[in-house]
Amino acid sequence: MVLADLGRKLTTALRSLGNSPVINEDVLKKCLKDVQSALLEADVNIKLVKQLTDGVKKQIDLDNIGTGLNKRRVIQTAVYKELCRICDPGVKPWKPTKGRSSVIMFVGLQGSGKTTSCIKLAYHYQKKGWKCAVVCADTFRAGAYDQVKQNCTKARIPFYGSLTEPDPAVIAYDGVETFKKEKFDIIIVDTSGRHKQEDSLFEEMLQVNNAVEPDNIIFVMDASIGQACESQAKAFKDQVDVGSVIITKLDSHAKGGGALSAIAATQSPIVFIGTGEHIDELEPFETTKFIRKLLN
Ligand code: GDP
Repeated sequence: MVLADLGRKLTTALRSLGNSPVINEDVLKKCLKDVQSALLEADVNIKLVKQLTDGVKKQIDLDNIGTGLNKRRVIQTAVYKELCRICDPGVKPWKPTKGRSSVIMFVGLQGSGKTTSCIKLAYHYQKKGWKCAVVCADTFRAGAYDQVKQNCTKARIPFYGSLTEPDPAVIAYDGVETFKKEKFDIIIVDTSGRHKQEDSLFEEMLQVNNAVEPDNIIFVMDASIGQACESQAKAFKDQVDVGSVIITKLDSHAKGGGALSAIAATQSPIVFIGTGEHIDELEPFETTKFIRKLLN
C-alpha cells in the first residue's frame, strides 16, 4: 500500500528512541528531524510538517516525564496524536438518513477517479441495504455514459443518463427526480471534470448543484498529484460546499502526503479511500485506524 514508505520511515524514527540509553533534548531533536524528513519526502506540506513537530514539542517536557521508557512512550504518543490531527479536521462527515432520499454530488477533475468512486460508493451502500442509484451528468467526457452504464449494470445499480440531452443540469435534475419518485435512499450524481480547473467546469458544476440541491458534495482527489492536491481542493471548496473527500489511487505509487496536506488546508473530512480499480476497492476512512496502520 502506498504511504508504506512513509510508515516505515516514521516507525524507524520512533523506534530509534529505543536504541538510546537516555532520552535527552538531542535524541528528541534527532527523532523529530527524522519524522520531518519522512513527512517531507512523502510530500506533506512544509508548513504542516513544522506545525506537527511544534505540536509534538509542545506536548513534551523532557524534565518532567520520568524514566526513559516513559519518555519514549510520551514522544511516540505525541507524534501519533499530531499525525491524527493532520488527517482529521474535527468535522463530522455527513451521513445518509433512512426514510428519505439523499442526493450526493461528486466533483473533481477529469481522471481523478470520480466516476469509478461514484459507482464504488453506490455499491458500498447497496451492500449495506440502502437503495442506491447513479445519475451520469457527465456530458463532457466521451464514454462516461457507457462507463457508468456498464459498471452499474454489472453491479445491478440502477442508473440514469442520456446520450442525446446536451445539458448536464437537465440530466441531473431529471435523474434525481426520477429516483426520488421511486423512493431511492441514496442518489449519486456524477458530474463532468476537466483536465484543469477552468471557469467552464466550475460554471457547469454550479448549474448541476443548483439543479439537484445536493445533501452532500464529495470532492474526489487523486493522491498521485502530490502537492497540487492542496490548491485543487481549495479551488473546489471555494466554489461549492464540499462536505467530504474521497482520496483515490492510494494503492498506486502516490506518496499521499499531498492529499493529507489538502485535508488540513480545506478542513473537509476524508470519508473513503480508493485502493484499486475494482468496485469493492473503497475503504471507509478512520483517522486513528489509518495512522495506527501507518505506524505499525
Ligand atoms: P474520472 O474522469 O474522474 O471520472 O475518472 P475515472 O473514474 O474514469 O478514473 C480514471 C482512472 O483511474 C481509471 O482508469 C480508473 O480505473 C482509475 N482509478 C480510479 N480510482 C482508482 C483507485 O483507487 N486506484 C487505482 N489504482 N485506480 C483508480
